[in-house]
Amino acid sequence: MQERQQGDPMARVAHSRHEFGEHGGVNLSIETSATFTVMEAGKMPAIFEGREGPGGGCFLYGRHFNPTVMVLARHLAALEATESAYCTASGMAAISGSLLHACNHGDHIVAGQALYGGTWALLHDFLPKKAGIETTFVDLSDLASVEAAFTTRTRVLYCETVSNPTLRVANLPALAAIAHRHDALLIVDNTFAPLSISPAVHGADVVIHSLTKFINGASDIVAGCVCASGAFIDGMYDLHLGSLMLLGPTMDPRSAYEVATRFPNLGLRMQEHARRAKSCAERLAELDASVIYPGLASHPDYSLHRELANRGYGAGGLLAVDLGSAERANRFMEHLQNKEDFGYMAVSLGFSDTLMSASASSTSSELDEQALLRAGISPGLVRLSIGYTGLLEDRLEQLERGWRAATG
Ligand code: PLP
Repeated sequence: MQERQQGDPMARVAHSRHEFGEHGGVNLSIETSATFTVMEAGKMPAIFEGREGPGGGCFLYGRHFNPTVMVLARHLAALEATESAYCTASGMAAISGSLLHACNHGDHIVAGQALYGGTWALLHDFLPKKAGIETTFVDLSDLASVEAAFTTRTRVLYCETVSNPTLRVANLPALAAIAHRHDALLIVDNTFAPLSISPAVHGADVVIHSLTKFINGASDIVAGCVCASGAFIDGMYDLHLGSLMLLGPTMDPRSAYEVATRFPNLGLRMQEHARRAKSCAERLAELDASVIYPGLASHPDYSLHRELANRGYGAGGLLAVDLGSAERANRFMEHLQNKEDFGYMAVSLGFSDTLMSASASSTSSELDEQALLRAGISPGLVRLSIGYTGLLEDRLEQLERGWRAATG
């Protein structure tokens, strides 16, 4: 389990940024080299044997580690209060690399039933077929059934801090206690809740992000990361057998530079995403819409979210609203995009502008009908990642007109 570190995550990130680029530049330098020299021939075998490494300034090859990518990894470890981190080429690479490091053939995973569609398909179809790793899906709010799903082969309890797209909040301290009672790891995808919740502080062993979303924030880079103990991360990039070495989901240093330069304004962005998402959720609630937002007192996990949340970052930039049918959901989104310029019909999240998608027929379409039902993803459910462009008052009026056009 990670050492508990309370306090403001952005302050931790600011502290980790006290390292300078080449020549003392205030921004980090981009090291583009894919391969690195050694001054003595004996160094190379020492690196392969793990006796020398980046800690001692010894770099080898870009798929293993790169100085620029490692700077970003240090910022991410600071953000999530973990000892170490590794940056990957996508969020899915971070998820698959971590699970394949934690589990062997024949092992078992317990996972929440409401998960991003790609993760669900990885656990439900890909890992059993390709690697003999089975998953039991459970309702995470029923802690007794979570515990009952464990077997002697369970190595991982997997969840999303705030689930995609149903926005249920995972009871991280209780889930960590269950996982640790069974000598399993709690692996948490924190893509929906950067800054607002720090899973490692609540007992998570591994924290994953799709950096493609809020953390990069510009919808121009696909990237991910794994934040965990030094031992877990070192194991993942072990030169001979590490899952990251052999699967090769490496982040490019140019991407690492871009993500790192956007880090300082993550706090401001998340505060504004959350402030506006809450206002939009309140406006929809006033219209009697069936709206889901963890910062509304009507949300089933409102108190839990308040208990887990870091001070000052609100309840996140995502909300979901159930229009009752796919047809109404489509009318709602089309009106908001094509008549109001409120946002875009697009998958993904964490962009400066609002992004809208009907999850059942898009990012959750991997789930079969039963799984959609169990996860609470109805055909009329629209997920909105609320942006921070335009005047909030104008946005609320546009949203209201969109709601009336779809439901009137
Ligand atoms: N985790 C969550 C919660 C997501 O929503 C997504 C993508 O939508 C991913 C992981 C996968 O991230 P990426 O697209 O960067 O591979």
